[in-house]
Parts: sequence; structure tokens; C-alpha cells
Amino acid sequence: MREQPGSGFSRRRIPMLECRYGTRGAFCRLGMIDMARSAIFCLLFLATNAALALLFPFTLSRFLLAVFIYAAGTAVMLYLLLHPRNQWLVANRSRVENADCVALTFDDGPSPVDTPRLLDLLREKNVKVTFFVVGKRADQYPEIVRRAWDEGHLIANHSWSHQSLFCFLTPRRLRAEIELGAESIRRICGFRPRCFRSPVGLRHPLLRLYLKQAGLEYISWSIRTFDTLIENSSILSRRILKRVTGGDIILLHDRLPAGADVMLEALPGIIDELRGRGLKFVLAGSREDAGCTTLESRPCEPAHSFRRSTKLPTSPR
Ligand SMILES: [Zn+2]
Repeated sequence: MREQPGSGFSRRRIPMLECRYGTRGAFCRLGMIDMARSAIFCLLFLATNAALALLFPFTLSRFLLAVFIYAAGTAVMLYLLLHPRNQWLVANRSRVENADCVALTFDDGPSPVDTPRLLDLLREKNVKVTFFVVGKRADQYPEIVRRAWDEGHLIANHSWSHQSLFCFLTPRRLRAEIELGAESIRRICGFRPRCFRSPVGLRHPLLRLYLKQAGLEYISWSIRTFDTLIENSSILSRRILKRVTGGDIILLHDRLPAGADVMLEALPGIIDELRGRGLKFVLAGSREDAGCTTLESRPCEPAHSFRRSTKLPTSPR
């Protein structure tokens, strides 16, 4: 049976985990420039909103000045928060090193229906990819995540509950989203992930700090496929093949509310065509960095033992 779209993740409060290094130590390692960038972003936010004070007393010239400052400040903030390759709030990598390679990355899974179909296809084509899994979903379907890892793919952190307003999370919630996502992968696969991608690629002024604390590298993308919107596999295929060059990291999704049929239909042809162009498929990060030098999996810890010890919410959808 096809998975039905849910009504969103649980809004129940999640616990704060102990930080691995302590905030003070992490701030020391963060560096003055990194902290200054976050501080400048916060000042920009304050200055943009302070422009509203120009409206009192109201005159046309003061109104126009306030509109100009507010619009310009908001545009800059949106660029810093939304642009996938912007380095201001968090250093990130959007390409792989070798010019004759590309990396396929799949976000938002696992899906109980489409991720196994994708894994079958990848095994048939002998292609290894990177899965950015949502912690809550990974806890629901740990056997799928384990299978992906066992078959040579890379498992990376896509936060705990995929909050659509990720850039507005409180510091406590932001850190919990990162840590709980990492812990979910550790319980299932036996290692802490080394790669992170935020929901919708959204940034946060404190993201750089917390990723450093968690030992995570931010992996962005250079090709946005719009597989979440395109409903025709030929159009999706054409869009990707027209843009891909060596070194690209390609963003796809193995879990969509309406199913990933379009992507699954397009993918075999895309793989064959890119191979025909001499491109090889690589992971977006290293499995060795993830603490594994072989393809052998580690014993899976039952999720319920972690839930009991940290009082995690138990009903993801
Ligand atoms: Zn996502």
C-alpha cells in the first residue's frame, strides 16, 4: 500500500541532549570571524526591523525610506538563509572533488515504499548514493536505513523531524534537531554521521556552531532537480541531463507526499546517460569518516532503549 501523506511531524517538546564538547569550548573553536558573521546577521535582522520606527511620525519620505530599508534588509536575510551555496552562516560543500564524478543525494527518507524500490534499482545499476535521512523516519523504518548502509551507500543526517521553519528554531530546539538526527543514525547503523543537510537547505545563525559541536560537515547541492514539483519523468530527466557536469552534487528525494514514481521512472535513463558521458557515481562524503572501513554492518541497537533514556516522542506521525 502506498504511504499516505502525513499531517506533519509531532510538535511535542523534545529533550535537550548534552552537548558533546560544551558550548564554551565550541565557541572557542568557532573562531572570531565565524562568530562575527552570525552576529552581523543578527544585527541585520534588528536593523531591518528597527526601520519600522521611521514610520512615526509618518511622512511620505520617511515611509519610502522605511520601505526601502525593510525590503533591502529582508532580501539580504532571505539570501543568507535560503541560498544553497551561500557560505555566510555555515560553511558548506556543494560539489565533489573529482571532475569526472557526480554524487546523487536523496533527502527526506526513508519511505517504506519508495526507498526499497530505489535500493533495488541502485543495486541493479551498481550505483552508490548518499541518503540524508530524517531521524524520526529512520526510527520508524530502521531496517531500510540498515539495508542502505549495508549495500554501500552513505547515511547522513537530515535533522530529527524536518522542521519547515528550521531557520526560526530556538537554539535549544536547533541543537536537539541535529543531535537527535545523529543519534538515530548511530542507533541504527552503529556510527555517528559526518554529513548534514538542513530541511529545505535552510540556514540558521547558530547552525555553524552546533554542526561544529556535533562534528558534522554541511553538504549542499549544485543541481536542484525540482523532483518535488515535476510530474513527468521525461521532463525531470531532461532538466537534470541538461545541467549536470562533472563534480555536481544532485538533489533528489526518495520520499514525497505523492510518491517518488516520477523520479524512479527517470533515474535508470539518467544513470545510463551520465555513465555514457564518462561520469562515475560517488558518495557525497566518506564512509571511512563515518567510522566504517568495511561494508560490514554493526549490531543494531533497539530504538526503544534510547527512547526510554531520553524521553523521546514515540509517535512520529
Ligand atoms: Zn528535506
